[in-house]
Amino acid sequence: MNIFQSIPLKKLNTFALDVKAKYYTEIVDEKEIPCLIENETFRENKRFILGAGSNVLFTQDFDGLVVLVSNRGIKILEQAEDYALIEAGAGEFWNEFVIAMLKSGFYGLENLAMIPGKVGAAAIQNIGAYGVEQKDFLHSVKGYRIEDNEFPELPAKECDFSYRSSIFKSALKDNFVISSVLYKLLKKPNVNSNYKDIKNEIEKDGIKNPDPHYIFNCVSKIRGRKLPDPSDFPNAGSYFKNPIIKKELLAELKASHPDIPYYEMADSVKIPAAWLIEKCNMKGTIKSGAGVWKNHSLVLVNYGTAKPVDIINLANEIKSKVFQKFSINLVEEVILI
Ligand SMILES: Cc1cc2nc3c(=O)[nH]c(=O)nc-3n(C[C@H](O)[C@H](O)[C@H](O)COP(=O)(O)OP(=O)(O)OC[C@H]3O[C@@H](n4cnc5c(N)ncnc54)[C@H](O)[C@@H]3O)c2cc1C
Repeated sequence: MNIFQSIPLKKLNTFALDVKAKYYTEIVDEKEIPCLIENETFRENKRFILGAGSNVLFTQDFDGLVVLVSNRGIKILEQAEDYALIEAGAGEFWNEFVIAMLKSGFYGLENLAMIPGKVGAAAIQNIGAYGVEQKDFLHSVKGYRIEDNEFPELPAKECDFSYRSSIFKSALKDNFVISSVLYKLLKKPNVNSNYKDIKNEIEKDGIKNPDPHYIFNCVSKIRGRKLPDPSDFPNAGSYFKNPIIKKELLAELKASHPDIPYYEMADSVKIPAAWLIEKCNMKGTIKSGAGVWKNHSLVLVNYGTAKPVDIINLANEIKSKVFQKFSINLVEEVILI
């Protein structure tokens, strides 16, 4: 493991922001992690564990150590008639992992097709899309706890998964390097086609019994239409979380906006942030090289010349307009560093 100085991060974040890391290293084998944790540069500096950089916004040069996690490897640990227990290295690319699982006949992750990023961060963020969250199939998370040098395996129920969150963003924040994630996948498909966009596609294609391969292709097609490819239009996916509000506020908002969309939750409702942004006439706005994507208002894009401050200014303008119009505070899904 070598530690380098003053390394550009432009190719290591999907916003393609031109920032530098004071120190930088890469982990290609999980056996390197204990040595990393004992390293003086790691111990004495601020540090940031980086996957594919598809959910981060570097607000400035990083004045510490960036650790790129690249350890790969997929192992079948156990198989029974109806399930398989799979371990994937934190540095495996998520979509490649999903494809490998489909090809092996292990199902469940197909609705999470085409999400950029690596397996380790999928557990941090509890990624979700089209009616499925990765927690639905996660068995456990292995990694190194920095403060006590332990290497625990945390079962899913101890990971506090919720909407785009987990224990790794709260109690274990900055204190855990995920080395691998274990998933319990189905050997008999149980297709989840409840999401409206998927249903529409199935109807359009006239499919009677969609299988997991169809769902994977269908989700990939829908995403391709809506979301900009970061290699053409650098972005980090949904910039904001969909806000969860009290039913009383929804009732008030319905008086002035009868068409407000929402998803029922136990004692609250979730509002699509994209709709709120669109209603503030921000869809397609471009300012100083930063813009709101023309096909999906939740995605902010670097049109090539944006600096971190330009993205942040645009995000702040959106937050302020949404608050003025709807009394709703948007919260970033993207992690600001
Ligand atoms: C076009 C596009 C579409 C997207 N669509 C979706 C979507 O549908 N659903 C969704 O949920 N997300 C989506 N995202 C967001 C993003 O893909 C996910 O959040 C993804 O899990 C981030 O993975 P990453 O490897 O890039 O993580 P990074 O951005 O590198 O890191 C994210 C966080 O995880 C931490 N981290 C990463 N690896 C480790 C590790 N091994 N140990 C400890 N901490 C670690 C980092 O410190 C950081 O806090 C999208 C992004 C883009 C660009």
